[in-house]
Amino acid sequence: MNAAQYLDALSLELGGNILEQRPFPADWLKRSTSSLRRTGLFEEQALDQLDRSVEGRSWGEEVRRLVAMTADILVDCFANLEHGVPVVPTIAPLPTRDFNAWALKAPNGEPICVVDVQLFGTLVAIASCVAECVFAGSESHAGNRQSAFTVLLQALLMFAGEDYHEEELRRTFPDIAHDPMRTFAAGQLAQGGLVFILAHEFSHHALGHTDAPLVVSLEYRDRQADTVTYNRQQLDEFAADALGLRAFLAYARQTMQDGSRRLFSQGEIAPLLFCQFLAVYEDLRAKLTPVSVDAPTHPAARDRLAVLGGIFEQLAHANAKVAYNGVREMFEHFGGFARDALN
Ligand SMILES: [Zn+2]
Repeated sequence: MNAAQYLDALSLELGGNILEQRPFPADWLKRSTSSLRRTGLFEEQALDQLDRSVEGRSWGEEVRRLVAMTADILVDCFANLEHGVPVVPTIAPLPTRDFNAWALKAPNGEPICVVDVQLFGTLVAIASCVAECVFAGSESHAGNRQSAFTVLLQALLMFAGEDYHEEELRRTFPDIAHDPMRTFAAGQLAQGGLVFILAHEFSHHALGHTDAPLVVSLEYRDRQADTVTYNRQQLDEFAADALGLRAFLAYARQTMQDGSRRLFSQGEIAPLLFCQFLAVYEDLRAKLTPVSVDAPTHPAARDRLAVLGGIFEQLAHANAKVAYNGVREMFEHFGGFARDALN
């Protein structure tokens, strides 16, 4: 059974591809294209094309389009780092109940990356909040910091499987996503987060970690499907982070565009945002679900941040290092906000 057949079978076991049943929201799309238009960084023709290309698509199609574009460039970056990914992995969004992704092999040995269905949407929310609080300077936009933290908290609750208020999320989100340059920056950051997550999983394939298999269960509502991933040794995770961050930085440099140079160089903070959010999530997870049967699948986010931070200090663009100071401070405050809100 090849990768595509295997993923179709898993999807069916889980009740069909959830993302195919959900249309890509037209209002989000309109807002983001109008933001891009107002930045003045894009040709009208390219924007029209973007409008048309996403019209009538499902979430699944849009996520697949994004990751396919990314995967090819990323595989080239690995080759330049002298750690080849033998074949471009097949990437599929599935419900994993994990704010993360998985590297596995199809029965015929083809490499696969599974990303959680809610992962990209959550990255968009995180990136929008960071753009609001860090790139804008929260003091000059009274009230927006509160809105940003509310959005982050709702995203966190959604991932923890807790009650969250979708209405509140929908109402609050536009408060922080109306400035065109910040919306543009947030889009780049969210995509950067996804690129790093894929780079981490590709690293497991490149480093041969998928040869020690482990059975895990995927779940969606009352359905369940077992699949086989690799044995998540903590040292393997640090190695995948280290190689993944190098590949991500190579990708960032390769795709840097004229006109967005300043924003994109700050975009190198994306992998650290993901881990900062994860660290708050882990701190609160114990509080939200005091008795957890799940074994930890990755080392603690704070330990991962120490490894990533070291490489980032050495290799990242100076603009990104300045922006990261603001990110660290923002997540410290958000941690306090979330703890208070859940008390
Ligand atoms: Zn991993």
